[in-house]
Amino acid sequence: VHMYDATLTPPPSAPPPYEINFEANRSSYGQNRFMGTVAAKYLVKQGLPANLLSTSDWTLDRETAHKVAKAIIEWAKERGATMTVHCFQPLGSAGLRLGQTAGVQNAMFNFNKKGELEYVFTGDELIQGESDGSSFHNGGLRATHTAGGYTILDPTSPVFIRGDTVFIPTMFVSWHGIAIDEKTPLLKSMKVLGTQGKRLLSKLGYEVSNIIPNIGLEQEFFLIPREAYYKRPDLQFAGRTIMGRDAARGQELCDHYMAPLNQVALACMQEIMHEGFKMGCPFKTRHREVAPNQYECAPYFGLASTQIDENLVLMQLIDEIPQKHGLVGILHEKPFNHVNGSGKHNNFSLGTPEGVNLMNGPQLTAKSGNADIFPIVISAVVRAMFVHGDLFRMAIASPGNDFRLGACEAPPSIMSTYLGQQLTDYLDEFRKGKRNVVYTPNKVTVDLGIDGVAPVKIPAEDRNRTSPFPYGGHRFEFRAAGSSQNVSMINTVLCTTIAESFQMIADQMDEGKAAADVAAEMLNESWDVIFNGNGYSKEWPIEAERRRLCRIDSGVEACKKLTDKKNKDLFSKMNVMKPDECEARATIMYNHYAGTVEIEAKCMVDMIQQHIIPSATKVNLTSQVTQLTAAVKKLEADLHAMEHKDTSYDKATAARVLRLETMVDIRKICDAVEALVPPSLWTLATYKELLFLD
Ligand code: ADP
Ligand code: MG
Repeated sequence: VHMYDATLTPPPSAPPPYEINFEANRSSYGQNRFMGTVAAKYLVKQGLPANLLSTSDWTLDRETAHKVAKAIIEWAKERGATMTVHCFQPLGSAGLRLGQTAGVQNAMFNFNKKGELEYVFTGDELIQGESDGSSFHNGGLRATHTAGGYTILDPTSPVFIRGDTVFIPTMFVSWHGIAIDEKTPLLKSMKVLGTQGKRLLSKLGYEVSNIIPNIGLEQEFFLIPREAYYKRPDLQFAGRTIMGRDAARGQELCDHYMAPLNQVALACMQEIMHEGFKMGCPFKTRHREVAPNQYECAPYFGLASTQIDENLVLMQLIDEIPQKHGLVGILHEKPFNHVNGSGKHNNFSLGTPEGVNLMNGPQLTAKSGNADIFPIVISAVVRAMFVHGDLFRMAIASPGNDFRLGACEAPPSIMSTYLGQQLTDYLDEFRKGKRNVVYTPNKVTVDLGIDGVAPVKIPAEDRNRTSPFPYGGHRFEFRAAGSSQNVSMINTVLCTTIAESFQMIADQMDEGKAAADVAAEMLNESWDVIFNGNGYSKEWPIEAERRRLCRIDSGVEACKKLTDKKNKDLFSKMNVMKPDECEARATIMYNHYAGTVEIEAKCMVDMIQQHIIPSATKVNLTSQVTQLTAAVKKLEADLHAMEHKDTSYDKATAARVLRLETMVDIRKICDAVEALVPPSLWTLATYKELLFLD
């Protein structure tokens, strides 16, 4: 056994400083992303229009696709790339450390008869590829004898280069064209949102070329010392600590939030950001988060499908780059007990490709000339949250997020929206019949009364960080997403449900009703989902129950919502997912849940037997050793029982009890033993070693 002395171990040796050559870097920023002027240069050489890639239609014509492939070859040559990959987003990989995209990397060249290097990459290879769909989670949609899977280029998301490889973002579908990835339903939901949004606005006298979802994803994560990480099998296998006594210091002093960056972590984040910048991923902010060793990065916002691809790149960088700095990036939602977990806030707005923001009342009114469009749009969103709160909850269900939503220390997971008093009052007037009033949010002036300091104007509305879906002026923020999650499903739900509201209003206009009256009715029916108070208060769950709002504390029950008739009907009606695709996805979520808990439970067994019991024995903690031996038996029996349940749903349900009840109880014994064992006899890394770089 490797002895590890917690108090006497020297701090992790500082890695060589990461030297950024800002000058050299800046000239390469964006060069590894095939869009805009970078792509134009190569497209024009092939006789194609410079702005060809700004719409999707080019993929329909094979000749054009061949020319684009040639342009990509020239670009790749200059950037030193020789490989290419169709990268897709297989289902059910959230929370695993192995990355969330998949693909086979292929050489872009061959040797000709003279033995010379010759680039071969055709339009066909750019647009589509073939792969094996059976070894991915597919919820029964693919089997080994019906394995064909196809990758199809996503024209909304730019091709990029990393290292020697050209990455082509694609969808991934089965031989029958059934989606076995995260991206296909998202693109379908974006399509229906555009169709219904345009239709409704046109009926309201506002012609637009499209309605698109824009998102900005704030990504939280931990950076911990690599040396300590390798003394934690649970972090290595399960991404979180399944035992571990609190360090004497946690976040009591609130001194970590936005504190000056630790220099080792800063060097790591600089490298992460600069790698991103080269690929044209515009990360905007970086700062420390609330828990020790916790950090956050946020990008500029953009089209949902593109932003999700960029977020997957960011997560990949967080996975890879810290190792060069003696660190490990942890993306799990709840890696450590009793300090904050990590989320990914999904900031969301609707806009036109030309940049009009439908969630910005004054701007929308100025551009459309119709003051009622803004309250109609907001009513559509409020209704979506009210009627489909269960789907919003489903979209954030994962084993990791179960620790952040409605379990252990987490607040109850009630789906509501915070609009702030001004917008609420404005909508109240609107639903009671007031029309043609421009929404103009007030600003208030704060004057500090200090000489030479001008009074500042600030929004008259405070922030509410207890709401899962607050309106923040110009955007909604879906705050409950998990840090390790691919947020495609969240945005699929947002687009689909809002599109349904738009469609309902437009349909009723066809029957002769006034749009504003239909929207006002929607607001009346959905009013209860608006909650501006403290979502963490004791009274709110009681009030929410009275309002019959969606509250689902169990992640497994939340997954099940995907197969409710209401929801299968919605997705098939909107052409986003067929009923069997919904069924398959629910099955995958159950399997993923059960599989995660299996790993965690086996890990716990090993850690108790190989670490905790030997340490406890050395200190003669006999009664604890007896307890621990019994705990291992119980764990193994429960695990066995869980694995032999009949259905995926039953397995996941049993897994959740095992994890949130049995394992939590057993953890208490382990953590109590940790308190009594001298550091020289403790063989696992402690919270002190894991959580304090400083
Ligand atoms: P916060 O104070 O909410 O934590 P951050 O600056 O950390 O703010 O993150 C805000 C995120 O919201 C950024 O990624 C930003 O690009 C995004 N965002 C801002 N405005 C919009 C909008 N209109 N639509 C979508 N996302 C937006
Ligand atoms: Mg933030």
